[in-house]
Amino acid sequence: MTRHQARKRFGQNFLTDHQIIDQISSLFAGPPEEEYQLIEIGPGRGALTEALLKHNTPLIALELDRDLIPILIARFSHHRHFTLQQGDALQTDFTTLANGLPMRLVGNLPYNVATPLIFQLLEKLEQIVDMHFMLQWEVVARICAQPGDSHYGQLSVIVQNQCHTRALFQVPPESFSPAPKVDSGFIAITPRETPVIAKEKQKQFSQLVKTAFAHRRKTLRNNLKNLLDKDAIESAGIDPSTRAETLSLEDYARLTEQLA
Ligand code: SAM
Repeated sequence: MTRHQARKRFGQNFLTDHQIIDQISSLFAGPPEEEYQLIEIGPGRGALTEALLKHNTPLIALELDRDLIPILIARFSHHRHFTLQQGDALQTDFTTLANGLPMRLVGNLPYNVATPLIFQLLEKLEQIVDMHFMLQWEVVARICAQPGDSHYGQLSVIVQNQCHTRALFQVPPESFSPAPKVDSGFIAITPRETPVIAKEKQKQFSQLVKTAFAHRRKTLRNNLKNLLDKDAIESAGIDPSTRAETLSLEDYARLTEQLA
């Protein structure tokens, strides 16, 4: 195999733990409920790709690092279900990549790409069956956090408005080479049939949530003073002296209704 040095700038921490690889791959076993396109983001040297291809489901692998392309071609080009695309996931039109089919997305994501990518994918949810990602454990905790949890914040509220989220398992640094400095976690993100906040109100809702969490130690009344007054917050059935981190998604939905 061509020699390849792991690159920090591409967030390259390759999975080496076969138990974890099998655990991830088993999520894609069995006959599909509907036709879909499986897309792996950042296949790296193909640790996960190999396990996924065993299910005989067509797989598109999207890799940014040009130096990994010959390695992936050597390993998998003989496989009739394998398609390789070189490119940046943040610049990719996934609808075109999937040829219009509903998509299942999977990947051990580079940490700097994960959050912006998830935000971009929230715009494409009508075409997404589900997403399964390896992320920094802290990001998994933030996405899945409930009101009152220390990790609860903007990311939790924005993602949970449109998706069901589930932290599946935690993964220690030793499961990768080179080992990252922090724990990782595997998450399932599945679009809700209907978002909690109606689509036409989502821009306002995002602005409200961002503003509410701008200063975590300040009260809701203080943070929201340019958007909603005390009476409007109370009309939503919420105490203006509470903090953003105690409010549920439904509370944010009612506050959004108060915006002009
Ligand atoms: N899936 C492999 C594994 O588990 O061993 C590699 C995971 S590694 C954490 C992240 C992979 O994503 C690397 O192969 C890296 O080159 C690739 N990558 C980094 N930035 C990317 C981007 N913007 N778009 C697509 N792939 C990217």
